[in-house]
Amino acid sequence: MKIHNIPYGRHNITEEDIQAVIKALKSDNLTQGPYITEFENNFAAYIGSKYAVAVSNGTAALHLSALALNVKPGDKVIATPITFVASSNCVRFCGGEIVFADIDPETYLLDINSVRDLLEKSPKGTYKGIIPVDMGGRAVNLEEFRKLADEYSLWIIEDACHAPGGYFVDSKGEKQFCGNGNFADFSVFSFHPVKHIACGEGGMITTNDEKLYKELLRLRSHGITKGNDPYLNSIKFATGGYEDESEYPVWYMEMQQLGYNYRLTDIQSALGVSQLKRANIGLNRRREIAFIYYEAFKDRDYIINQSGVVEGHAYHLYIIEVNDRLNLHKYLRKHQIYAQIHYIPTHLMPYYRSFGYKEGDLPYAEEYYRHCISLPMFPTLKDEEQQYVIKTIEGFYKNEKNSHHTCKRGK
Ligand SMILES: *Cc1c(COP(=O)(O)O)cnc(C)c1O
Repeated sequence: MKIHNIPYGRHNITEEDIQAVIKALKSDNLTQGPYITEFENNFAAYIGSKYAVAVSNGTAALHLSALALNVKPGDKVIATPITFVASSNCVRFCGGEIVFADIDPETYLLDINSVRDLLEKSPKGTYKGIIPVDMGGRAVNLEEFRKLADEYSLWIIEDACHAPGGYFVDSKGEKQFCGNGNFADFSVFSFHPVKHIACGEGGMITTNDEKLYKELLRLRSHGITKGNDPYLNSIKFATGGYEDESEYPVWYMEMQQLGYNYRLTDIQSALGVSQLKRANIGLNRRREIAFIYYEAFKDRDYIINQSGVVEGHAYHLYIIEVNDRLNLHKYLRKHQIYAQIHYIPTHLMPYYRSFGYKEGDLPYAEEYYRHCISLPMFPTLKDEEQQYVIKTIEGFYKNEKNSHHTCKRGK
């Protein structure tokens, strides 16, 4: 088999997906039709949450979550630096302030002890919320974060963009699926093509809180309320002469707050419904691929750390930490393996540096960034392709003699 051009992630569109989109295109609604509700209901059922709200992308999902939690200029929110920039930008959209805590170098997740340190150093009430990320697909232990958050009256937005279907095991031995609404106020997902479920663009917010759910529905669509909503103010002039609430004219609506147009189209939702049907197949395949990487690298002395085999991991990414990462990355590209680096720490982005962040502020995040590389990980990756990736990495460290100064961390 001739192997060429292996990306780190790739979507998978089947004939069934295409037929689903065609059906939506031929229907009466290109947007705000039945597929949106179907996608929301099926997604909530898949994740195990009470409510799900489909939005135009994962960033919009984060923004609406921050708005619904009433983030205001000056509000301080704790975030992780090892994630996509959108995880913290949502607070900035509302004028809030991001305070970064460090990561746990073993799991790459926001370190709860680092968060606790920040909280203990300031008077209660200083911080409003925390945004933990299921980085790479590894589920954050939200039971622990909830306990800490409750001590300080903080909200939690879980950025679960990497982890639909992922879970952690709680203190009672129960599986707690990412986004199931048991611990976080909101959990957000993305349906960008590199994520587990592809809509082109798309996002979802899950919650178990009915009031917050209704708030999201209004904010998603211009802050407009209609129908038999108890929130209606029933302004006499605007009802156009109708007096009786049960008889409001069909056009009657109120814009009660400043909202956005963050709706997902029916075309995208139809694709989402179809993709969601195969989500578990894709997830199982990701776990198989992870197991093979883990077995291949576990005894290698050039490996500092790796994603590993972890119960409930959703494996959006499979990350290895190595020395001479730059040259390995170049070597892999030369061999048409397009590994990626996730992520440049957010606090070192020029935008966040402008708030005073600098190198040395978050040592574990920065050390991780020096060594991390994400290997090809997607359900349609072929066994031969994965073996080629593993052999190419082996070849690099054998030939280039780059393994002599590796220092192992942890296990
Ligand atoms: C992809 C992603 C987002 C943003 O999602 P978009 O749909 O691209 O807006 C946010 N957070 C994380 C961790 C992501 O990976």
